[in-house]
Amino acid sequence: MRHIAIIGSGPAGYYTAEACQKQFEGAVRIDIIDRLPVPFGLIRSGVAPDHQSIKAVARRYEAVALTDSVRFVGKLAVGSDVTIPELLSLYDAVVLATGAPADRRLGIEGDDLPGVIGSAAFVGWYNGHPDFADLDPRIADGDVVIIGNGNVALDCARVLAKAPGEFAGSDIVAHAYDRLTQETARSITILGRRGPQQIAMTPKELGELGKLERAAVRVDPADLPPLVSDEGLVPGQRKSVGLLRAFAATPTDKAIPLSFNFFAQPVRIEGAERAERIVVERTRLGVDGAAVGTGEHYAVPADLVITCIGYRTPPIPDVPYDEQRGRFANEEGRIMPGLYCVGWARRGPTGTIGTNKPDGFLVSEAIAADQPAAGAKAGRAGLDALIAERGLDIVTFRGWQKIDLAEIERARAGAPREKFVRVDEMVAASREGTAAANPGQIKAAE
Ligand code: NAP
Repeated sequence: MRHIAIIGSGPAGYYTAEACQKQFEGAVRIDIIDRLPVPFGLIRSGVAPDHQSIKAVARRYEAVALTDSVRFVGKLAVGSDVTIPELLSLYDAVVLATGAPADRRLGIEGDDLPGVIGSAAFVGWYNGHPDFADLDPRIADGDVVIIGNGNVALDCARVLAKAPGEFAGSDIVAHAYDRLTQETARSITILGRRGPQQIAMTPKELGELGKLERAAVRVDPADLPPLVSDEGLVPGQRKSVGLLRAFAATPTDKAIPLSFNFFAQPVRIEGAERAERIVVERTRLGVDGAAVGTGEHYAVPADLVITCIGYRTPPIPDVPYDEQRGRFANEEGRIMPGLYCVGWARRGPTGTIGTNKPDGFLVSEAIAADQPAAGAKAGRAGLDALIAERGLDIVTFRGWQKIDLAEIERARAGAPREKFVRVDEMVAASREGTAAANPGQIKAAE
């Protein structure tokens, strides 16, 4: 029997488990380890709460989790509760699928002022990630500046601009729902350091902004390049730029101005005690498509600054790390003998959820090529012994199913669930008898 440990239970982790099941045709035991008591990583705490159809992919991961060869080991922190060398001694292969949950720093003066937060923190806050439950973003009547022209910037802007009724059917957590329905931003400005044709926003997500009840989306027509130049864009990008042209052509007078400031490179954030304004330099496109400063500066009021400029994978002790790229040092997913990485931890924070699927196959093939025969490692029995010896308190998939049912039971009207946002609440729910209400769904093997 081959023993594989996958660290991280998000899309990259579950696609890897699925690929390994196929690759080794049942002769494999897989432990999916997560530092949280709840699985599914980015699906639960990254995908926007009003994008429930995207979250539905978790059902596919659940089907993998419910097979006998796969086990979920929640609330076990790799690097502190157990180390990488320990896991390498227990498993034939250890695959890091830890994603990129840390914000990249802007690296300008004032980026550490109160009121400047990263998208991992803001998204984690409205999605109920325990690390960000106490974030307390200042929204009431404030000017919000969002930095970056990717889909995460759109998620943040949309959630901030929504009217209370527009959260219907979402699983936004109570603390964020209360704040966002009681407090309204005075303005939202999305800063892009390059131009409309350089955005990394997809048409569906960009189009959603135009349908919001309160957001008056504004694009300065002077920022738009000649229409004919759109012909050189790939179809998706052409559609996105077309939407920006439509916003520029038909300004609305809804309650919250939501402005796109293009060619605006952040220079510094100013404020006496906390962020009050951001100074930007007007840019133009260089020959290589990069932003080039023009020397012209202006200030944008900013009580809250949310940086949406990409993420980093936090290092883990004993794992070679590529500091510049902010991810594990690897060659096509190989880090060192027996140690692999997939998903954002391998290639950085790009692509859709489905992009992680081929990653899983790539790593399962690498494992098969590197280790044609299974070894004689202890696998999950060895991990269980270590967990027992250290008195660690893990949460199994059965425990997650109890949390899941409890969250569904306590949902506010119209919402699919009300997430627990504290680890101790999750652990308590994992121990309760709620699951007996639907015993058919409970995984018997754990
Ligand atoms: P992203 O798509 O890489 O966008 C990052 C943005 O930040 C870019 O516009 C980039 O500008 C800008 N930026 C980077 N450094 C900057 C700096 N120092 N100053 C100013 N701007 C800076 O990243 P993301 O939005 O975090 O999204 C991550 C991935 O998740 C993407 O693949 C995205 O499509 C995906 N995602 C998808 C959805 C969805 O499908 N609904 C939702 C959320 C996220 P430059 O282009 O000039 O570098």
